[in-house]
Amino acid sequence: MTELAGRPVLVVGAGIMGSGIAQVATQAGHPVFLYDTRPGAAQGAVRTIGAALEALAAKGRIAPEAARAAVARLRAIDRLEDAADCALAVEAIVEDLAAKRALYREVEQAVGQGCLIASNTSSLSITALGQGLRNPGRFVGMHFFNPVPLMKLVEVVSGLETDPAVAAAIEALARAWGKVPVQARSTPGFIVNRIARPFYAEALMLLQERAAEPAQIDACLRGAGFRMGPCELMDLIGHDTNFAVTQSMHAASFGDRRYVPSAVQRELVEAGRLGRKTGRGLYEYRDGLPVRTDRPSFVPAGPLPECPVSVHGRGPVADRLADALRHAGRQVVRVRESGWVGVGVESAELRLTDGRPATCVAGETGQRDLAVFDLPIADGAGALAWSCADTASGSWRTDAPAWLALLGFEPIEIEDTAGLVVARTVAMLINEAADAVQQGVCTAEAADLAMKLGVNYPAGPFEWLDRWGAGEVVRVLRNLDALYRGERYRASPYLLRRAWTDGMA
Ligand code: NAD
Repeated sequence: MTELAGRPVLVVGAGIMGSGIAQVATQAGHPVFLYDTRPGAAQGAVRTIGAALEALAAKGRIAPEAARAAVARLRAIDRLEDAADCALAVEAIVEDLAAKRALYREVEQAVGQGCLIASNTSSLSITALGQGLRNPGRFVGMHFFNPVPLMKLVEVVSGLETDPAVAAAIEALARAWGKVPVQARSTPGFIVNRIARPFYAEALMLLQERAAEPAQIDACLRGAGFRMGPCELMDLIGHDTNFAVTQSMHAASFGDRRYVPSAVQRELVEAGRLGRKTGRGLYEYRDGLPVRTDRPSFVPAGPLPECPVSVHGRGPVADRLADALRHAGRQVVRVRESGWVGVGVESAELRLTDGRPATCVAGETGQRDLAVFDLPIADGAGALAWSCADTASGSWRTDAPAWLALLGFEPIEIEDTAGLVVARTVAMLINEAADAVQQGVCTAEAADLAMKLGVNYPAGPFEWLDRWGAGEVVRVLRNLDALYRGERYRASPYLLRRAWTDGMA
């Protein structure tokens, strides 16, 4: 296989991504040619990269001579033939199949037989893009994340014709550039854009049902350790972009109902409420900052009854509830065999969600004073959604959130919906990751790395799975499926197998 270290690299497309890729390549010691069809674009990018390198040197992040040497290795070219001796061509032009394919034909003519050709496409099939190349074996996806110099993740994407040795060489190169590469098979969304879909889709579903406000949804997911909630993140990405990715996933999977785009988001796009960039999306922005009315902190209406409290079920959440209650000076009785996790207070129950709404559990158990709370997946105290059964008495409605506050959470009451906010979102993220692994898109380790580095998730989907347990994840999905019907919440065969195995353990 071609040895790529130190060899010339051609970057085609001098936009946001191409400039970043050229900067990283030159900093890693490669002579870099930058080419763009827009007159002056490549020259402009060379200047911008030079300024960025100088700024890094001024801040002491790189040595001034390293910055100067990196700038000297960069060259804007007007003809692809000027890069005839390059060992790798990375394409980062407009996201258009026909335009990219036409370019590869030109690149193949300009470069040598041994030159590898990589695309930074975020959504197009590597197999389809490679069609028409004289040698599709040398073609591979090299998917960087924005901003390229800062984001560690690179998805190395193989199409059906990609030579495994080419994918291995690109992986080694990405590592030499200081990145963390993960191997993926070319399927819609690759790893990150695919597994992340439910993060947005579940929030949009809650909005469509009018179960919660954007600020409530965001607070709950921030409480679960995400840096940003899905509503503020969609506003940042732009609803047009986010909607287009979901539509393309849906189309590319032949209309799989798992990926049905949201009517709520379509309407935002139709109204031009695209998010931060238009000053309005799910939130309003003034001078680029969200206009927020702060939620008042929860204040209990009065003292809670001084009775013993039973903690039901097993596992980390039950243990955590028992510890918190003891810490608050409460007498705790453990009831490990009850089949649900939560707290019993006299004749009332506060249950960890199993995917069913509180009213559904109340109806099925005959327990009128019932509330459910969301999955506390992060260790720390934080916002936690809860809802009350329609049958609950007025006193339980005021006491349930006070018990949650005593347990160390900031209770956020939402409408009585299935799987509340975090449980349904995390279950679906795990489910999507499980399907990706089942279908040979990537390994579980790659999925965890990709989600932590590509979109800053606080944990990988398989780390959550280990903590939560496949049986519980499947239970939540099945209850969601029973309520919503229609494929969206079908459990991955991978998860079912893990749950059956765990059940036998
Ligand atoms: P951009 O619009 O900033 O830059 C694209 C550049 O390509 C422009 O300068 C344009 O003049 C040039 N160009 C267009 N057609 C060309 C051609 N035939 N030959 C040479 N140059 C041509 O776009 P971007 O955001 O840098 O995205 C580039 C690619 O990277 C796309 O495939 C996109 O999907 C992918 N990507 C983007 C992001 C992101 O966050 N922006 C992240 C990952 C991947």
